[in-house]
Amino acid sequence: MLEIIDQGNSKGGAKGRIWTIDPIDGTKGFLRGGQYAVCLGLMVDGDVKVGVLGCPNLPVDDAAPLTADIGTNATDEGRGVIFSAVQGQGATSRPLGTAGLAEGKSIAMKPITEMSNASFCESVEAGHSDQGVAGQIAQKLGITKPSVRMDSQAKYGSIARGAGDIYLRLPTSKSYQEKIWDHAAGDLIVREAGGQVTDVSGNRLDFSVGRTLAENKGVIAAPAAVHDQVIKVVQEVLGQQ
Ligand code: AMP
Ligand code: MG
Repeated sequence: MLEIIDQGNSKGGAKGRIWTIDPIDGTKGFLRGGQYAVCLGLMVDGDVKVGVLGCPNLPVDDAAPLTADIGTNATDEGRGVIFSAVQGQGATSRPLGTAGLAEGKSIAMKPITEMSNASFCESVEAGHSDQGVAGQIAQKLGITKPSVRMDSQAKYGSIARGAGDIYLRLPTSKSYQEKIWDHAAGDLIVREAGGQVTDVSGNRLDFSVGRTLAENKGVIAAPAAVHDQVIKVVQEVLGQQ
């Protein structure tokens, strides 16, 4: 098994078929019994074509309200979901069970009609995303609810199915480069569910430049209709830093 893992040494890049795998994304969440995700992405010539997220601790129910302790009260049958997307074919959720692949249901982001009713999610780990800056952005947008903090790409799945609305990931350092395996699946799933995923400057995440998202800083994911509005506020707040 260790030898097989060591074969996963692709440099990434803009040519060919590359599978990107994060066997346990959100290790801290896994250890605390919170959210974690098993993440798989297929990139062809630097573009994500297939994304799959297995989230064993999220509820199956797409409509379950998004809270920091989501899933803890679910029964064994009610817990565990697989999100998936194929480019151009939409996004799906299905129960994660032991009896083979269950039937999938189409998912879509929830339209935001009132920012005051919107919710946003971010990392639990303050070192992974600047929670202070995210708080200022949320306030300026008119979001009144406190952030929902959860580990892993479960955040992408949760907004893709309309349980939450916006995902903010603000850089904590100038030098950190996000890893492709932390974002490939979530990026496609959110976009196929009607969302837009960019960095803090409003540029699409560029998976074609290697093992990291070297051309991007941070991640802002929101329903397509409000994404511009969110980026405008992100820029205003970051400009004041
Ligand atoms: P999350 O669960 O959303 O906080 O993200 C978990 C991922 O954050 C891990 O898989 C790490 O690869 C990644 N990570 C580690 N250090 C940093 C950092 N300084 N900034 C952003 N992400 C990081
Ligand atoms: Mg990870």
